[in-house]
Amino acid sequence: MGISRILIANRGEIALRIHRAAHEMGIETVAVHSTADADAMHVRLADHAVCIGPPAASESYLNMAAIISAAEIAHCDAIHPGYGFLSENAKFAEIVEAHDIKWIGPKPEHIVTMGDKVQAKRTAGALGLPLVPGSDGAIEDVAEAAKIAEDIGYPVIIKAASGGGGRGMKVCNGPDELETLMKQAGSEAKAAFGDATVYLEKYLGNPRHIEFQVFGDGKGNAIHLGERDCSLQRRHQKVLEEAPSPVISDEDRTRMGETCAKAMADMGYRGAGTIEFLWEDGEFYFIEMNTRLQVEHPVTEMITGIDLVREQIRIADGKPLSVTQDEVEFKGHAIECRINAEDAFTFAPSPGMVTAYHAAGGMHVRVDSGLYAGYRIPPYYDSMIAKLIVYGRNREKCIMRLRRALEEMVVEGVKTSIPLHQELLKQDDVLSGDYSIKWLEDWLAQREG
Ligand code: ADP
Repeated sequence: MGISRILIANRGEIALRIHRAAHEMGIETVAVHSTADADAMHVRLADHAVCIGPPAASESYLNMAAIISAAEIAHCDAIHPGYGFLSENAKFAEIVEAHDIKWIGPKPEHIVTMGDKVQAKRTAGALGLPLVPGSDGAIEDVAEAAKIAEDIGYPVIIKAASGGGGRGMKVCNGPDELETLMKQAGSEAKAAFGDATVYLEKYLGNPRHIEFQVFGDGKGNAIHLGERDCSLQRRHQKVLEEAPSPVISDEDRTRMGETCAKAMADMGYRGAGTIEFLWEDGEFYFIEMNTRLQVEHPVTEMITGIDLVREQIRIADGKPLSVTQDEVEFKGHAIECRINAEDAFTFAPSPGMVTAYHAAGGMHVRVDSGLYAGYRIPPYYDSMIAKLIVYGRNREKCIMRLRRALEEMVVEGVKTSIPLHQELLKQDDVLSGDYSIKWLEDWLAQREG
């Protein structure tokens, strides 16, 4: 007997996304929700819903005991964690499996390995992925750090082994700052992640962020689904993502993609994963691996025609990958705009009642969102309220269609980042694809000035 009822341990657009894939496979869904989300769309669409606690995520969407109880009471045979919340929590994955419930995610040991950046980097290196030059592992001794920094050359970046969400990083420009910054990074990491371990790597001046989507069946087979370019970032948060990357050749895609797929096959990796690289002057440098579905996965779906959530569910059910590498075809171009409930240019959060809502439509336009008119966006969670994903036969046509779709979107009652995306799509550098991870913040600063 395969999976017949999935508990979706998440909220918002990703909970809907999982529900949709499940229903298309004839699988029932059970939503969980906090009291703040009783009227949310994911609760309305699911076959069953269980309230798991008060608004604070720590007491609801992160409450392992409540989620496991909900799964047992509702007779679920699998749990999909989405992204964020418990998706990269190896302990939760283990508990789920210990209850004889299928975990729609990687093997817990791989979540552990990739969750620790020092271990992740070492593993990636051993599997043949190109690394950012730096310390071979954790580093405590300032003299040793100074020697490594001297070898690789300043500036260097001090990073927390347990870091995440762009936190716990310090850029160091010279030997005189090293000791102070190492101490600061260590104590900040200890405060934020409960782990003071830091490591050192070369600070790249103007890289792009390029990541590869991979899938493994857990039995030694793996494929890649090409790359996504997520260089348009603010405070290390992605704003707009596209596939393919404007700077990656077919040869590079095949070469790096196959390197990534082989690494996953060698590991016996199971499920969806994303291998993140910085890219500068034609070279890739591994930074981390995410052992879950990513927010930006739809751009990959648009250019490959493969439903990534369906693939995750199949793999968790012990089925083989639905395609071989040779069957994966890349066609056209896709761009995703993350739409947040916030002021487009000051980024001040703007939760509250959505008084009117109209989603863009038409050919090759996809909106993943739990919004509806009359919905009150709660202030407790992530500010992302919708993703607009558009496909075109090439990048230029995709951008034309994206502009048209942004014109159509109506969200009234709260402020949104739609005007930011409209401005971005007028900028020459964005139109030509000539941007790095620094571009968006530089542009915002100039706009201010
Ligand atoms: P996190 O897990 O906190 O997101 P990452 O290692 O993925 O941390 O890095 C987040 C971002 O920080 C990258 O997308 C990039 O913008 C910047 N960054 C990380 N390492 C370097 C580096 N060696 N040189 C330059 N920028 C870096």
